[in-house]
Order: sequence, then structure tokens, then C-alpha cells
Amino acid sequence: MKKKRSVIYPKLKNALKEWGGRLPVAIVFPEKESLAFSTLGWQRIYKELSEEDDFVVESFYGQGRKEDLFSVENNTPLSSFPIICFSLNFELDILPFLKFLRQLNLPLKSEARGEDFPLIIGGGPLCFLNPYPFLGTLDFAFVGEGEEKFVQLLKSLKDTYLTQGSKQDLLNVALKSPYVLTLDKKAKRAICVQDRFSPSYSLFISSRSAFPDTLLLEINRGCLYGCRFCAAGFIYRPFREIRVEEAKKIVEDIKPRKVGLVGTALTDWPYLKEFLFWLQDKKIKFSLSSLRVNSLDFEFLYFLRKTGTRSITLAVEGISKKIRKSINKKFSEKKFLEVVEHISRLQFNNLKLYFILGFPQETEEDFLELEDFFSKIEEARARGKEKRKKGLDLISVSVSFLVPKPWTPLQWIELLKEGELEKRAKRFKQIIGKFPRTKVSLENPLLSRIQGILARGDEKLFFFLEEALKTNSWVRAYKNCREKLDPYTREKGLQTSFPWEHIDMGVNKAYLYKEYLDFKRGKQSPKCLKGCEPCARCGLKKFYKEEELDENHL
Ligand code: SF4
Repeated sequence: MKKKRSVIYPKLKNALKEWGGRLPVAIVFPEKESLAFSTLGWQRIYKELSEEDDFVVESFYGQGRKEDLFSVENNTPLSSFPIICFSLNFELDILPFLKFLRQLNLPLKSEARGEDFPLIIGGGPLCFLNPYPFLGTLDFAFVGEGEEKFVQLLKSLKDTYLTQGSKQDLLNVALKSPYVLTLDKKAKRAICVQDRFSPSYSLFISSRSAFPDTLLLEINRGCLYGCRFCAAGFIYRPFREIRVEEAKKIVEDIKPRKVGLVGTALTDWPYLKEFLFWLQDKKIKFSLSSLRVNSLDFEFLYFLRKTGTRSITLAVEGISKKIRKSINKKFSEKKFLEVVEHISRLQFNNLKLYFILGFPQETEEDFLELEDFFSKIEEARARGKEKRKKGLDLISVSVSFLVPKPWTPLQWIELLKEGELEKRAKRFKQIIGKFPRTKVSLENPLLSRIQGILARGDEKLFFFLEEALKTNSWVRAYKNCREKLDPYTREKGLQTSFPWEHIDMGVNKAYLYKEYLDFKRGKQSPKCLKGCEPCARCGLKKFYKEEELDENHL
């Protein structure tokens, strides 16, 4: 059945082109429709390809069921495309991706697929964090920020395709690119090649998105704070941000009813207030993702409340000061409680708080401090309510478990066993249970442990992927393979060479390891500076130019 969606980008009205003389490309987002609409990466590639006369591009999403094998635009069967690109964003996307391959009757391993099969390409953050567990299923992975470079790569394939080149010919062309990785090609390449930042924004605005009817607009990429568990702070260096004129132009062109600002530490964007006032003038609603406590004051919160914001999200992350120091999360408790008081005084409906559990240093003492912290939050909430009947209505606490990501200082850490994670989750819930109008939701500890295993896996982990496909469940596969997975959960040392070191991410290993030691010592690091590359601290080089990609990077 054809799925409807609202295409709002005007130039795309002509997106459905004849196949003759063009390279047909399928883009598959192996996840739910609501996530597809709220993920900017694949939409960006779709837009870039649609605007080029060289390509016909159609999109697919879903969990790899039969009905997902037909394009949204035209009901075209996925099997008719010579090039199929999968957008892979999170570890658990690997299972629906494999289901797509199975539905297409493709052998899982690329080496078993001959000339008659399409070229299967992977892209997205999972492919440049660590594609090794599933790399053997792809003809190749594209590593790095897509945008122009991926379009250039596909352009280089077009002529070969139109002159009846074989699949091997296409592969030979692709393998010349420094951004292409296969199990054989140990590519050393640079992520930080773009010499400008070109922000992404929603191409499709839909009521069925996780952010209904909202134009999502990327305000910045990378992060200066370097929280040690957070991949965004390490893999998107150097930090880049949108110019306010550009942000306004995008909104003016698209004329959405609502804009959702996407990025890290949004309140650090120097033009935030100017931009929000401008949106307010134009009667366009807006929403902001999680905010940093240190940059919030009464005046700004008042503005948000007055302009219709009902809910504020703050990331606390660690359950005690000691843990927050270890993970390099900086805010003062005094300031945090002041902000809670303002939020209550201004009668916001909801305060969402994010926490992460599963750091080895957590002890009962930290949980006692957490209880004390929530008591203080309760007092601040009550102070804000003084002399008024109403204050902050609800506090919603979301708890996730640590998934150590490649390229972060925590890539060496031990993964806690699910029993231990469950114990900590229970203790957390017990504490929150003591506070009125405060509710807690927790992620599944076992699924988080599985993500941790997949995040740091190598090509030998393929057996686990096959088992997940066979049992149609990560959890069942984990239970069947528990012992064999154990080595992927242990702490690693500086001497360990990780498979993803074949990719050049810009930051050097010695710097990451020092950050890991500081995590263990509970020592904080300073915030990065804007425009600091080349950087003596993390090893980030100045932006590479194409001609600088010498043999070491090929
Ligand atoms: S502030 Fe910390 S958690 Fe947030 S994006 Fe930056 S590095 Fe990541």
C-alpha cells in the first residue's frame, strides 16, 4: 500500500523523474516512519540527490517487512534498484537492516552476492563510529559526514553504470574514494574534510513524525563540552554552527508552522535569542531540545513560557557530583536548583530530567546523594510555588544506561552485567518513588548492554547478528550466545587495537586515553575553544583539503 507523506521542499515537486539516462538510487531507513521523519541525515542525502539531474532517488523505511519493499514515492520495488543505500544510525538498526536483505533474498555476506545483485551501501553515524560487525554484509560503507562527498561518490559511479559497467566495475570506481571502507580496504581517511558547515533540516514535515508538523533545523554540529560518554563531542570535531541569516533564510523559504532547533548545547548559540524573537515576530512556534543549566536565567525562561513552551528538558546525566566530575558534565547544583525554582514559579507543566546509569564508580553513597538532590529539587519546586496555587506540575525522569561508544574516552570501559544494572535501576526507582508528582521511565538494561556489545564489536561478531536474525530478537540471541559475547564486555587497555582505528576520525588515541584515565581519577577537562584546530590537545588537524589526502589517508 502506498504511504502518503507531505513533501514540503518546493524543488522536489519534480523529484519523480524518468529512469532513462540516470542512476537509480534507493535510500532505505530501516526503522519506523516516525523516526525516519525526525532523522535529518538520510533526508539530507535524499534532497541532494533529488536536486541532481543525474539521479532518480526513491525512499523506503520500516522494519524490513514485505510491505516495506516498495518505495514511498511510486511503489517501485526495492529489488529493481541497482544501488541501495541504507541509513544506519543506532546499533539496534542492524537487525531491521538485515531483515531487508533477507526479504530481498540476498545472501547476507557481500562476498556471496554475484554480479546480478545490487550494490549495497551503508552510511550514517553507525558506519563511521564502527561498521565492523556488519561491514561484511555491505559492498562498502561510506564513512564520514555525507552531504557533498557522498553525492560526489555516486556521481562517479553514474557513467560506469550508464555504459553498462559491471557491479565489479562500479566497486572498483568506489574503492578509489578515501571515504569508502570494506573489510579488505583498511582505509585511513579523514572525517574533517569539509571546509564549511552546511546545516541540515527537515525535508519532510509530517504529523506522523516523532516531532509532528515541525521543521527540524540543525543549529550546530559537534560540541565544545566533551562529556566523556558522548560521541557527538568527539566525532563531529571541529565544532561548527549555523549563521543566523542562513537559519532565517531556510525558515523563510519553507514557511513552517513550527521550528524544532536541533543541536548540542543550544543555549550557547550566540544568536539563539535573536532567532527566537524573530520566529515569535513571524508567529512561528518553536521547540528546543535539551538545554544546559548554566546558560538559563529567569528572563530567558520567562520568554520561553510566554511564547508557549510548556516543558523544559535538562540533562543531569550522573547521579552524584562525583560521577558528573568523572564524565566531565559541568554544572553547579546551586544554579540547577535556582533554575528549578524559576521553572516552578513560571508554572511550566513539565520538567524532564535525563540521567545515565551504569558507570562502574556508582556506589550506595552516590544513590544517597541522588535522594538528597531530589529532596532539594522538591524544595526548589515548592519555593517557586509560594503564594501561588500552582507551580511546576510534573517532573519526568528518564534513565538510560551507559552505551560506551567508539571514539569516546569510554571506549575502553567495562560493561556492567545486566543483573548489576537491574539492581541500580531498582534503587533509582525506589528513590523516585518517594517524591510526589515525579515519575520515572527506564530503558531496558539488557538492551543497553547489547548495544554496548554491538558498538564495540568487530567482524567476528557476525555470528551474533545471524543469531538475532534467526531468532528475530536481540535478547534471545544474547541469551543463546552469552558466553561468546563476554570478551566484548571487558575493560580494554591502551594496547588494544580497535577495528575502528582503521578510520581516521581526527582525534588521536593518546588524547582519548588520557581522558579515560581522568574519568577514572574523577578529574575534569576544560571546555574546547571555538576554531581551535589544529589542536595540540586532541590532535585535530586543520580541515583537510582533497589534495592533502595523501597515501596515508587512502
Ligand atoms: S554537552 Fe556533553 S552530552 Fe551534551 S552534546 Fe555536548 S558533549 Fe554531548
